[in-house]
Amino acid sequence: MSERTRKPKRGRVFLVGAGPGAADLITIRGADVLSRANVVIYDNLVSPELIRLAPPKAELIYAGKRGGSEKSIGQSELNAMLIEHARKGRVVVRLKGGDPFIFGRGGEEAEALARARIEFEVVPGVTSAIAGPAFAGVPLTHREHGSFVALVTGHEDESKGASAVPWDDLAAAARHGGTLVILMATARMRATLERILTAGLPAETPAVAVQWATTAAQKTVSATLATLADASAREGIGAPAVIVVGELAGLRESLKWVERTPLFGRTIVITRARAAASEFATALRRLGAEVVEFPTIETAPPRSYTALDRAIKHLDSFDWIIFTSPMGVESFIERLKSRGRDIRELGRASIAAIGPATASRLADYALQVAAVPDEYRAEEIITAIGVRQIRGKRFVIPRAEVAREAMPEILRDKGAKEVVVAAAYRTVKPKGAQIARMRELIASGAIDLVTFTSSSTVTNFCELIGTSGKGIRAAAIGPITAATAEERGFEVIVRPRKYTIEALTEAIREHYTKAK
Ligand code: SAH
Repeated sequence: MSERTRKPKRGRVFLVGAGPGAADLITIRGADVLSRANVVIYDNLVSPELIRLAPPKAELIYAGKRGGSEKSIGQSELNAMLIEHARKGRVVVRLKGGDPFIFGRGGEEAEALARARIEFEVVPGVTSAIAGPAFAGVPLTHREHGSFVALVTGHEDESKGASAVPWDDLAAAARHGGTLVILMATARMRATLERILTAGLPAETPAVAVQWATTAAQKTVSATLATLADASAREGIGAPAVIVVGELAGLRESLKWVERTPLFGRTIVITRARAAASEFATALRRLGAEVVEFPTIETAPPRSYTALDRAIKHLDSFDWIIFTSPMGVESFIERLKSRGRDIRELGRASIAAIGPATASRLADYALQVAAVPDEYRAEEIITAIGVRQIRGKRFVIPRAEVAREAMPEILRDKGAKEVVVAAAYRTVKPKGAQIARMRELIASGAIDLVTFTSSSTVTNFCELIGTSGKGIRAAAIGPITAATAEERGFEVIVRPRKYTIEALTEAIREHYTKAK
């Protein structure tokens, strides 16, 4: 054994910036470190969507709210906690809103780690001081009228002395083409703006406040140094908000862009299995929506592989293989492999795929389909395959272990010689769903739309959160899913013409574009 491996395992602390709010504004390195954490200690401004990137076994510790009255862990206790976990040999991620070294006390934590000789790394994040103005349409520098930026706390009370902010100098700087970005700005907003005014910055200098930047709750107010406090009060701007003061704040009127994205301000829930959700989530985020992933199904091996294994053994006896879902394809091929078989044994059989997504998964394995019915409905399948292709033929249907048996019967009715239904996987409700969070989001009216991509996502959603769909708006991928959702009380407001994720995304975009 080498010298190196005998040493005790050494822990390490990563001070990671989570970004300003939108889950996909964390850095790639931040997401990577998070996915390998043993312990995650996170703040209240960190998006709950990000916590889900941690491994299921990671210990999650909420460090609580800063500056508020809510109970929170004190800084020295927190430092001690970081050190203790690292000494136990763990990978500790200290996840902080925005950037860890901008008003996040990341500096103090790093000092404590350095003193304790704990190895640490800093993963910078997109600070709200930059992202807030960007999402408000305010550039912080500009070749013609903005050559420097000051990031300032609005929290310090000058009259209390100590680390007072030099407002006179800052106001002078702003007069000469500087931009002031004020964080922790809301509690003392009026006093801060008056102080800058008194220091000699003209009353008509443009000023913008942006709250909850980069999230669906983003609210922005455009005014002047003299009027921003009143305008913000009228609009109900509270924490967390960033204020920008300076000539460049005036560019918002021509540069505001977030409000124009088709799904701005919308919070949309994705209920499909986590493994399948990411493309859909990305597409919706790109349209400006805030996405909450709430997977309601997970796939597991079937309770018994007997039927599937027997079918795999006699593959050459089948005339048709009907795949009903991409997961069916995936699990069938996996089983084929694990039995030491070869995909070429499918040679004799024709393949039918329900829906384009299933066909496209087959194409990944260079398997061409002979028929692609749009939906798992008997009439469609019979039409797509053709009645003459059914009589006297043998079928195998590798699919989810479910009770619905109509299809084999209909094929038999049409003269099929044999129909084997082989369970290739099973859908189960996921463990560790963020149920309390989802209930709260629904109760507070924060959810605009819940998307369903199969009947089981509807059923499981209701069972997980323990309510019907009453009062909840939904999008359903196809008519069967829509019917299930309506039975459960959902108001189905989006129904794509084609039953694909792309069409569903487009239908959502259209719906909200019309609503604007
Ligand atoms: N380290 C963080 C700042 C922590 S101090 C960062 O780099 O962003 C907390 C302050 O950040 C809040 O009072 C508010 O001024 C600002 N803030 C954080 N998230 C924000 C958001 N989504 N929108 C506007 N301001 C935000």
